[in-house]
Amino acid sequence: MTNLSSADILPSQDVQPNPSINLLDYSRTQLETLMIEWGEKSFRSQQLIKWIHQLGCTDFEQMTNLSKSFRQKLKEIAHIKLPEVIWDKASNDGTHKWLLKLFDGNCIEMVYIPEKNRGTLCVSSQVGCALNCSFCSTAKQGFNRNLSVAEIIGQVWIACRSLSKEGTNKHKVVTNVVMMGMGEPLLNFENVLSSMDIMMDDLAYNLSKYRVTLSTSGLVPQMEQLKKTSQVSLAVSLHAPNDELRNELVPINKKYPLRELMAVCRQYYENEPRRMVTFEYVMLAGVNDSELHAKQLVKLISNVPCKLNLIPFNPFPNSGYETSSMETIYRFQKIVAATGINTTIRKTRGDDIDAACGQLVGQFQDRTRRSSKWQEVTSEKKVMYFEEHS
Ligand code: SAH
Repeated sequence: MTNLSSADILPSQDVQPNPSINLLDYSRTQLETLMIEWGEKSFRSQQLIKWIHQLGCTDFEQMTNLSKSFRQKLKEIAHIKLPEVIWDKASNDGTHKWLLKLFDGNCIEMVYIPEKNRGTLCVSSQVGCALNCSFCSTAKQGFNRNLSVAEIIGQVWIACRSLSKEGTNKHKVVTNVVMMGMGEPLLNFENVLSSMDIMMDDLAYNLSKYRVTLSTSGLVPQMEQLKKTSQVSLAVSLHAPNDELRNELVPINKKYPLRELMAVCRQYYENEPRRMVTFEYVMLAGVNDSELHAKQLVKLISNVPCKLNLIPFNPFPNSGYETSSMETIYRFQKIVAATGINTTIRKTRGDDIDAACGQLVGQFQDRTRRSSKWQEVTSEKKVMYFEEHS
């Protein structure tokens, strides 16, 4: 691991735009269209997707079942370019976190969580996040831009290669992908959808629809669109059982209040009665964790086919929140589970490397004023602390 200052990794003048086509930006159907545009046979798309994603090959010369002339053509007009790994930290519990440098010099984070029977990759969809949920450290960093398909699927490409190199597991190291890294995936709809198509493509990563999960803070129109166009599993960051509290914790609720959000969740799997929406609920001490909140929550979600995942709050400096005690979390779980709703508690992983939910921050240029405002608040708090304690 090298120690880099942010000056080393923020956008620099020498980043040259590459005018040629990055094949990592294309799903199989998009490659098919491209092949037809190039006057090539459409089955070339199958060969390419397999070479790039299943076999991890980025060098056209090594794609030996392609004709010499086609390989030459590819070299002239296309390339396969991945984000660059700046560092890769492993936690004591096997969790990995990477800092990846994008093509414009901004950096994002990605996390891998190994468990007994599966390995989950937590993928980012945006550089930062525009939504400003009050308890999330990504939100405090502000927002820069959407990720391209190459930058999203490139995360999966990199994790699969770097983990199998390590010999973690011979076969499939990444068995599940959750779009729960930095950003709101539904605000980068097209690119996230194409990337998830590649994750599920049997010639690429071959993950089933049950193992690719998109998590949203509740953008109702985009959720309706997702229902029509994708088979992936849906998770919704709920975090509060009433509008008043949710407006405070998840401000997008002011635009899409609980009544509208619950309506779309209720119907989400109407044609697949065995599937369920997962509700995520961060446990914040004294904020949303009382018995009354649990009862309100039951009332809110009991007519939605759903599972509930309680997430102990992962603290970060000056967040203003504390994690509920385990006793409170168990009591909350008991109240909800007693009504027949499958209620789990998320195990916190990767604590020692800040790899837990809401702790992914990356390093990038903020286009909002949020990160500098946050720094002002943080330093004011430090001054107050100093005055109070000196
Ligand atoms: N924007 C999407 C994707 C981010 S997913 C969404 O909101 O769902 C990240 C998940 O971790 C969300 O459920 C988010 O609410 C939760 N989270 C954010 N900050 C957290 C923190 N400090 N502790 C625990 N969970 C957090």
